Amino acid sequence: MPAPNIDTIVSLAKRRGFVFPSSEVYGGLGSAWDYGPLGVEICNNVKEAWWRWLVYERDDIEGIDSSIILNRLVWKYSGHEATFNDWLVDCRKCKGRFRADKIVDNKCPSCGASDWTEARPFNTMLQTKLGAVADDDPTALAYLRPETAQGIFINFLNVQTTMRRKLPFGIAQVGKSFRNEVTPGNFILRTREFEQMEMEYFVAPSAEHSKLVDYWVEQYLEWFSSLGISRENLYLYEVPPEELAHYSKRTVDIMYRYFPEREKPWEELMGIAWRTDFDLSTHSKNKLDEEGKRINPDSTEDLSYFDEPTKQRFYPHVIEPAAGVNRTVLAVLMDAYCEKTNDKGETRVILKLSPQLAPIKAAILPLAKNKPEIVGMAKAIKRSLQPVLRAVYDDTGGIGKLYARQDEVGTPFCVTVDHQSLEDEAVTVRDRDTWEQERIKVTDLAEHLQKRLKPYPVPLAETI
Ligand code: ATP
Repeated sequence: MPAPNIDTIVSLAKRRGFVFPSSEVYGGLGSAWDYGPLGVEICNNVKEAWWRWLVYERDDIEGIDSSIILNRLVWKYSGHEATFNDWLVDCRKCKGRFRADKIVDNKCPSCGASDWTEARPFNTMLQTKLGAVADDDPTALAYLRPETAQGIFINFLNVQTTMRRKLPFGIAQVGKSFRNEVTPGNFILRTREFEQMEMEYFVAPSAEHSKLVDYWVEQYLEWFSSLGISRENLYLYEVPPEELAHYSKRTVDIMYRYFPEREKPWEELMGIAWRTDFDLSTHSKNKLDEEGKRINPDSTEDLSYFDEPTKQRFYPHVIEPAAGVNRTVLAVLMDAYCEKTNDKGETRVILKLSPQLAPIKAAILPLAKNKPEIVGMAKAIKRSLQPVLRAVYDDTGGIGKLYARQDEVGTPFCVTVDHQSLEDEAVTVRDRDTWEQERIKVTDLAEHLQKRLKPYPVPLAETI
């Protein structure tokens, strides 16, 4: 049973230190959020799981970390300056402003009227100015990147030559992106500052691009499943031609059931796009248009690739799986949420997070906090576990309360030190999901926990 709605997660997230509304001391900043002590851990764990899966476990992907602010020409030739627009409409009755493509049944989401202005484009790249320049100096204009992908394209040759890569291979990057969203909202689902995990997979122009899109869709379904997201809460949306971005010949969105309470419950979790050779060729100095003119007179590089076996030079095509860290975290939290009733008839919240994503892996709890020997032993166990896994010590309540607190933040194991422990050098390990307990020797504890915390493996499809 996943969370019944996003609000349930909003209140849990605030109550338990996952996510706080940003700038609250000044009344907040619409749709900006700060990640607290547990939120930063789960974000890091998602990014680490992604990086390990793609960059370490596969043999065909490298990682990079490019600048957030790039030369403005990157955004001119990528097409973002001209086309990275949302279409805006104003409600004539209540003056509300909305994204035209998000209006359902032609009704204003604020007042229900159907009296709209003409749709007009609004460029959603966030602007800034570089250097100590006059306000009106147009050469100082720069953008905060709206996608991490362009930083990968302009480094294609740097990576390919230094790592001596042959096609097919990919480049992965994780980092912040910025979009001046017209109507941000729904918690961390749509914000102006967010984090992306993008991978550009470079292949020959003769490759079977559509099959490769399907391949990466399947791979990501496996990955989401390894994060504990149930398949039935995911839905594949084949983006129709009229909705495709300017660079894409085919895109499949993986949608998550973020709004189970609504008639239309799905919203995009990530997209997998065949970006053709658009990006590499548009940034290249040698690419000519149909009339034989250079399409990019500003570029000093040619990002083409020489294919040794066929002795051909070409611009590789790209398959791009682009996922959001924040939307993944929200889907993970919603899917992990469940409620359980204890023997006393009380309802308890449990976050059944996949162990690799849990912010805290083990909580070490003394059964009696007024017994210095028990407290000392519990603290020593916490310290000994800390180098291998994230452990915390807590003695700020009775044992039932401490268990409930850890269940609610998804800690897979509670380790209790009791009077008996002082004699038999053993502790009780309690499982978050089953509430079952077993007695484990302190000397075996680290290994026991590590075994049970192992990430679920992501099966790799055989061919690509
Ligand atoms: P949408 O249609 O929901 O605005 P998009 O199609 O513009 O999304 P992409 O350009 O495909 O999004 O970006 C890739 C991924 O980056 C998205 O699937 C999402 O996970 C994440 N993302 C994009 N915009 C935002 C945002 N404003 N807030 C949080 N995550 C975002």
